[in-house]
Amino acid sequence: MRVRLNGMEISLRRKIMRGKEKQRKRLWRRERLMIRSGMPDTYFSQFMFSQLGLMHLIAPYLPKVITTDFGIVRQIRQLIAAMYRFEGKRPPEFRGPDGRTYFALGPTDQEKVLVPYSGGKDGMYHMYWAMNAFGPENVMAVHISGLNPGNTSGEREFSARQAKAFGFRHFRTIDLLNGSPNIGYAVMRSRDMFIVALLVPLALEFGASKIIIEGFAEVSRTEPFTGQEKNMLSFNKVLRELRIPVQAFWRNDREMDVVREMFTWRPDWMPLVHNCFTTPNRKLHLREVLFNGRYPHFPPYKSQCGLCVKCRIINLLGRILWEESEEMKRLRTEHREEVAHFLKRTAEWVRHKWKTHHDMIGGSFLTNFRVAARLYGVNLGAFNKFLAGEVQQVD
Ligand SMILES: [Zn+2]
Repeated sequence: MRVRLNGMEISLRRKIMRGKEKQRKRLWRRERLMIRSGMPDTYFSQFMFSQLGLMHLIAPYLPKVITTDFGIVRQIRQLIAAMYRFEGKRPPEFRGPDGRTYFALGPTDQEKVLVPYSGGKDGMYHMYWAMNAFGPENVMAVHISGLNPGNTSGEREFSARQAKAFGFRHFRTIDLLNGSPNIGYAVMRSRDMFIVALLVPLALEFGASKIIIEGFAEVSRTEPFTGQEKNMLSFNKVLRELRIPVQAFWRNDREMDVVREMFTWRPDWMPLVHNCFTTPNRKLHLREVLFNGRYPHFPPYKSQCGLCVKCRIINLLGRILWEESEEMKRLRTEHREEVAHFLKRTAEWVRHKWKTHHDMIGGSFLTNFRVAARLYGVNLGAFNKFLAGEVQQVD
């Protein structure tokens, strides 16, 4: 597989077959990543973008041979090889020039940090935590627009709105043109290292020594490469070996504990949360016809569809348990049957989604879901029976 670099654009060409048997045609498809704006215009930016951009582009295919017209340093070749081994493949053969490092960087400040920011609850939590720990003037949020195709406009809009409403002192946007089909669950093979790589040049400019990413408290053994703590530790080692004075940094908090912390300390931030999985064109139907139709006294937040995995497990269950707004108090006291109904249907939904979503709904979500079910008198007999069987199979 050939990969080319041109300024801040990296692309591959891939053979694909189109059409029915007799008229099958061989076509070439080009997939690319391009930084349109937001990264410093330096050799070092291009270096970081090219090394981890390559990894992100080839991750869905893991080709046997990688041919490049730009250099790849030894440490990154080893990192890519580790990704192959992790996925049960033999490391690739690299054809192309050796990479060189021509930069002298630093210094950075131990008390300054960067937070990748997509408008979801994790970025919000990291900003709340970092602004408390280091002071608002020492924290910068960076939104990478285009990282999650399909939700780009909503994420961009909500990130900017939040930055203003929550009083972030430093907020920047990197504009990424993302033509890679590397999405969905498998994107975790490379995504988090790619994110950190794009942010490192900005961290250096800002003087930050840490980039705060999500922790690994509820990660299963089947989570792809960059979703595993040991691999992020290797990535930090690569950064140190390249004499880059910035590290990925994380704390291992459980998902629902993060939600509870936010409702406890920053309840005013939550109504602007944006982590719904539903694309904008389907959202209105789910929200206004299905969700509002079933639960008329339970209005979702502005960005929510109410029925996708994120809306259900994080926002809505969290709101039932911990939100103290007038709206939620009224729902809990005057319309308890709506909450019970929501929980009952969520139990059915869990059974339905278990195979595909157990990594997201198996951990602290399940614990808190049971607490809520008990509070609202929802009988989980059949549900528990089902889970007892499934959990054995999964482990
Ligand atoms: Zn949703």
